[in-house]
Amino acid sequence: MLYFDHNATHPVSAAARSAWLEAVERQIGNPSSPHRVGARADAALTAAREQLAARLGCGAGEIVWTSGATEGNNAVLYHAARSTDGEAWISAIEHPSTIAAVQRYFPQRHRLIPVNGGGVVDLDWLADRLKQARPGIVAIMAANNETGVLQPWREAAALCREKGVPFFSDAAQWVGKRASAGLGECDYMSGCAHKYGGPQGVGFIKCPNRLHPLIVGGPQEDGRRAGTENVAGVLAAVAALEERETALIATDPAGRLGWRTAFENQLTRELPGTRILGTGADRLWNTVSAVLPELPDCRQRWVVKLDKLGVAVSTGSACATGQEETSHVLTAMGLGPAEASRVLRFSSGWETTEADWQRLIEGLRRAFAEGTDRRRSA
Ligand code: PLP
Repeated sequence: MLYFDHNATHPVSAAARSAWLEAVERQIGNPSSPHRVGARADAALTAAREQLAARLGCGAGEIVWTSGATEGNNAVLYHAARSTDGEAWISAIEHPSTIAAVQRYFPQRHRLIPVNGGGVVDLDWLADRLKQARPGIVAIMAANNETGVLQPWREAAALCREKGVPFFSDAAQWVGKRASAGLGECDYMSGCAHKYGGPQGVGFIKCPNRLHPLIVGGPQEDGRRAGTENVAGVLAAVAALEERETALIATDPAGRLGWRTAFENQLTRELPGTRILGTGADRLWNTVSAVLPELPDCRQRWVVKLDKLGVAVSTGSACATGQEETSHVLTAMGLGPAEASRVLRFSSGWETTEADWQRLIEGLRRAFAEGTDRRRSA
């Protein structure tokens, strides 16, 4: 199977796998237990917390382990709603977990920050509105999961800081693909391990030392998130992150970007009518979101046809797969339902090769040609 759906989930890396195996063998205690076996597990968690905090640029005490970014986004917005009477302003292209959390915790007091046609958050809108009002929190993700478009989170954080407004960034798609340095300067941020080669079900937030906990019933994480921590998962998550951060420094990003660009050029040449989304903006090196031409055999959807040919891609965010509704991200970028229904997302991973991108082109070419042949013979 040719796997081009890493923004949904990335296979576990070699470093994460060995860290996890070592941890389940050696760290058998509960980090909250009063004996030395427990203390050893707690010390391992602390070391991992320090390692992650050093990467993000924040204090170790500001890290809370979670089950993933969905929980992290809920936890931050739950806390924010309990801490302020103000509004939540979130970008129109946030992950569904942020949108749903805001609808639940900030009913009647949230607004969407618009994006332009290239899928970039409108900073001028934010700067103008901040002159007129003071929201309780502003949330802008670091990189969009559907288009890979990078968002101006640093600039937005600075604007908010000037006005004394708490700023939150969901960095689930950024961490492990771009250097994490600086993310710790956001008042709140969330991340998860399974988007870059750590295990599923492990994530973290950067937050203040005191937090209204979303999950209650235990003293873990300094009372900010109850429940026994996933020690092996956390150690594997941090091992994978170290591996990625090292690779980001050691390898030339032009190489990875070059494969993506070559793919896009070939795709638009071979399948006329194809439109790549977000081309005017900086994007993640691994993500291509494209409106494809109608398949000649219009009874078949691209994603199904490619799956039959052994190529796994996505129609948008993993959470939206299978739903017939138009993606809110594509709608915010101005696409109509017909065009949005022909959007495919191709997302490579750390182990994807140049040859894999070529095989992807071949798969797309075959899917298109088969439809043409069938129409001719009909
Ligand atoms: N935020 C973004 C930007 C994502 O891409 C995802 C996953 O698709 C999430 C949040 C949810 O992450 P998790 O699967 O860890 O709950």
